[in-house]
Amino acid sequence: MEPTTQSTALKGGEWIIKESNPFETFIPENFDEEQKMVMDMCAQFLDTEVIPNIERIDKMEPGLMPSLLEKAGEQGLLSTSFPEQYGGLGKDFITSSIVNEGLGGGYSFSVAVAAHTGIGSLPILYFGTDAQKEKYIPKLATGEWKGAYGLTEPNSGSDALGAKSTARLSEDGKYYLLNGQKCWITNGGFADVYTVFAKIDGDKFTGFILERGFEGFTQGPEEHKMGIKGSSTVQLYFQDCKVPVENVLGEIGKGHLIAFNILNIGRLKLCAAALGGAKRAATVSIQYAKTREQFKLPIAKFGAIRHKMAEMAIRMWVCESALYRTAKWIDDKETELQKTGKSFAEALLGAAEEYAIECSILKVFGSEVLDFVVDEGVQIHGGNGYSDEYTISRAYRDSRINRIYEGTNEINRLLTVDMVLKRAMKGKLDLMGPAMAVQKELMSIPDFGAEDEGAFAKERKYITNFKKAILMVAGAAVQKLMMQLDKEQEVLMNIADMAIEVFNAESALLRVMKLLESKGAEQVSIQTDIMRTYLYDAADRINKAGKDALNSFAEGDELRMMHIGLKRFTKAEPFNTKDARRRISDKLVADNGYHL
Ligand SMILES: Cc1cc2nc3c(=O)[nH]c(=O)nc-3n(C[C@H](O)[C@H](O)[C@H](O)COP(=O)(O)OP(=O)(O)OC[C@H]3O[C@@H](n4cnc5c(N)ncnc54)[C@H](O)[C@@H]3O)c2cc1C
Repeated sequence: MEPTTQSTALKGGEWIIKESNPFETFIPENFDEEQKMVMDMCAQFLDTEVIPNIERIDKMEPGLMPSLLEKAGEQGLLSTSFPEQYGGLGKDFITSSIVNEGLGGGYSFSVAVAAHTGIGSLPILYFGTDAQKEKYIPKLATGEWKGAYGLTEPNSGSDALGAKSTARLSEDGKYYLLNGQKCWITNGGFADVYTVFAKIDGDKFTGFILERGFEGFTQGPEEHKMGIKGSSTVQLYFQDCKVPVENVLGEIGKGHLIAFNILNIGRLKLCAAALGGAKRAATVSIQYAKTREQFKLPIAKFGAIRHKMAEMAIRMWVCESALYRTAKWIDDKETELQKTGKSFAEALLGAAEEYAIECSILKVFGSEVLDFVVDEGVQIHGGNGYSDEYTISRAYRDSRINRIYEGTNEINRLLTVDMVLKRAMKGKLDLMGPAMAVQKELMSIPDFGAEDEGAFAKERKYITNFKKAILMVAGAAVQKLMMQLDKEQEVLMNIADMAIEVFNAESALLRVMKLLESKGAEQVSIQTDIMRTYLYDAADRINKAGKDALNSFAEGDELRMMHIGLKRFTKAEPFNTKDARRRISDKLVADNGYHL
């Protein structure tokens, strides 16, 4: 594919049916000087302010976390993407994602800062009136006030709209009186400003801005958690809590718009933070493997350990490729929407909604990459990995929550498929045409066509075929199960897994293709190994997920034919992944950590 100046930005989900142009794909190697500086600033903040105090943070030393947030605020790290008008730096979405990644290795601090800048501030920034924004955002931007967000209740977690908290207008019409309870509220123990949700007159789900100290508003004691022990997590109680009517956030009865739209952005940001945490955990583990000797050799020399280190790098690099590819799409869409006259808030929300499928994919993949890295990190550390004296044990405990909040990974997998199908039904994504073409191809003799001799022709063919695999399996599932499909969650999970693999694999390939153009083959040999190993393994994973799905709803000749198709679409030529992983791990050892 040749570089082009014509913009062909894909719409959300369109990568399933269209080819992407590598030269239009944003890759982390394209960060500008300012973005690199922001990344360095974050690393320095963690190294000087957070990591040396991590024991004190985990013991919840009173006042420490709020003071760290204030220090981050002084350096502009809490308000990267807030408009300048409200005391922010007015930077783009990529830059604010860089901050999430850069601070992601700060254990409980990362959670506090992500909650404050994300769910704690954005609802007001995006849905607040001018007066609300003027009152709250500048103070949230500096960290003078800390933000929290209360959606979850004891009986409504994933089913967030099942909330029981109520609100009714006071007789004088000046207040809403809130009654109910919220649980698992991050930063809840010290926050000054809370966005919470309650149902007006029992059915109009609505957002409210509460301040610490409002009459009838109390916070419970700190929860004792498995990990992120330094992150404040409490319950909130409302007993005829008096909330001035001017503190209704957004439209009455439209609280779901706030709750769900904020989550799209939060999911991408969670991926960024998870990636930042994973990079630090991998580096610590690589350095340990270099110094720990057994059988008179550093364990980093053993093939079993080299495999682990390389696999960490593969997943992180692929995740990073998908993350910034999407962040750029969101930035571009936001700019496009602003040009059509949309406000800053409408534009960003619209952009995040456009790429909600990708945000869900990133949330799932980022949290699972982090879990993989910290788990293998503990293994590399052996018994020491199980000791509190080694930071990897903290990373392991702190990682686990990421698969649970911002929508559990099950919910996000379900949403991924649901959103793709909804887009297809609304005519926003032409899935039917390409799915029918794949069905036709199944019936015909394979086309061996003319050999494509361009760069990465084989890998490009893999991606094209992987997409056919999704189209075949998803198309058959829709045809066979129709309205019953949403009751067959196992099948939806299989299809989601296929989609996640394909999006990641393609993102990695596009990045390597773009790098090749600017740096030459020798300079990108390790990245090429990473991409090839990922694609080779993805072929098998896509095959397995596809087979599991097909076996559960098709049978007889039809099933046999689709099995043959799946085999064809997930065929990968033999590739020596052992040697590729050895080359990758050699690089990690030489670099003394993950610095790709
Ligand atoms: C440390 C921590 C911090 C948090 N911070 C906040 C915060 O700041 N603000 C806030 O509002 N909330 C917060 N939460 C709450 C968090 O968002 C919820 O825990 C999460 O959404 C899951 O809800 P739940 O715990 O009720 O689990 P449930 O919804 O009961 O889910 C239990 C299991 O069932 C699965 N499941 C549920 N429904 C379905 C379905 N339809 N199909 C298939 N599987 C399903 C889930 O995936 C999960 O595996 C936090 C939670 C924790 C633990």
